[in-house]
Amino acid sequence: MFVALDDTDSLESMCTTYLATELIKALGVYDLIGLPRLVRLNPAVPWKTRGNGALCLRLGIGRGEPTMVGELDDMPVYSYGRTAEEADPEFVLTVAEDVISRLARTEEGASPGLVISAEKPAQRFYWQAVRGIVEKTDVLQELQRLGADLVGWEGGRGLIGATAAMAWRPRDRTYEIITYRARERWGTPREIDPLSVRAMDLERPSTFNSFDHGTGRMAIAPHTPCPVLFGVRGDDPRELMAAAFSIRSEPPARWLMFLSNQGTDDHLIKGAPGSPDRSYVFLGTVATVPRTIAGGHVLFQVTTSHGPLECAAYEPTKGFRDVVRGLRPGDRLRLFGELRAEPRTLNLEKLQVIATAPERRKVANPRCPVCGGATKSMGAAGGHRCKRCGARTSDPPVTAEVPRTVAPGWYEPPVCARRHLSKPLKRMGL
Ligand code: ATP
Repeated sequence: MFVALDDTDSLESMCTTYLATELIKALGVYDLIGLPRLVRLNPAVPWKTRGNGALCLRLGIGRGEPTMVGELDDMPVYSYGRTAEEADPEFVLTVAEDVISRLARTEEGASPGLVISAEKPAQRFYWQAVRGIVEKTDVLQELQRLGADLVGWEGGRGLIGATAAMAWRPRDRTYEIITYRARERWGTPREIDPLSVRAMDLERPSTFNSFDHGTGRMAIAPHTPCPVLFGVRGDDPRELMAAAFSIRSEPPARWLMFLSNQGTDDHLIKGAPGSPDRSYVFLGTVATVPRTIAGGHVLFQVTTSHGPLECAAYEPTKGFRDVVRGLRPGDRLRLFGELRAEPRTLNLEKLQVIATAPERRKVANPRCPVCGGATKSMGAAGGHRCKRCGARTSDPPVTAEVPRTVAPGWYEPPVCARRHLSKPLKRMGL
């Protein structure tokens, strides 16, 4: 039996993954089949609160060897590879509805959705929700076809994300261990030793996005007063456990391992940007010299197969902007980013410089073609005139090639400025 939920939290409090731990506790008569899934959806959806994450669990009576995948207030959580017996949908619905009604932040704008189904929705609901915009009516039709149970609160927009999370069949996957704070600490400053995070990042190569060595800042803890203590992401579930347990911090009250689409680039549409509120990977040629505007954002234009497009590396991308500032007209790029509607600008997430164009700078006026003397400029359209014999010339000035500051290669923003779904270069083997 699949149970999926979304849109339960607000910026002020709660977290959909914490609500999943509450659900697992409340439905403790059943086992987890596989890992709980934390599925990130279109990061450009205008109405998301934060990271546009939705949750899906599979529950039943497990079969085979159990694996410990979490601990909730001293209660170990086991996951099984197979199902011996399905969970009772009516019971699951009653318990889940009660947990969400109690904990979801509907009074702070959440619009929760809960879906319970023995069968997964069609895969396209995941791909559409991670790459585009999905209508609730389409989702409701699919849930009806499946004979799924569903509950929506305050408009139930969360039904879209819940359905998409349930529809995910991983093509690429990563893992995240999330730890949660004891209730009495919620809203207080988090106690985490950044040096232990740095050491973990250096010693555990299959983890990613944990520590920003450029700024010396850790990136594992949220900045909101939510119940999360920290989250560590990685490619290898075993090493991830060792990594998470090596972090020195206040004692977590809970931890749970999730399977996730984070760091997979699943959100990217291949081809030159068309509709806004979506993310794309495409080829382009730099058309203008990058300029820095107020706020430290860097803008430049590229030519794509769909015409010219403004691209931006925003201030939070820090040192990545130096790469962008070094681009010059004619450079061939592979660009990754989200297209905003207003102003219509591509927010760069990653960049491959495929080839750089030669950059030349004027070093002298042309020599006189008659006597070989020095010339002086006659203004914008006037060419040059010889200082010695007065002959005019339309020869171009003498130029020399300037060494470029940017070399062909791959570039990405620092850890603190990355999207949940963006595939780090580290995961691309680069
Ligand atoms: P989280 O805090 O858990 O990381 P979030 O708070 O940013 O996520 P949600 O509260 O889950 O975001 O709100 C996102 C809302 O947008 C949900 O109601 C979800 O159903 C809806 N949604 C997500 N993706 C799409 C999409 N592609 N098309 C339409 N609606 C979507």
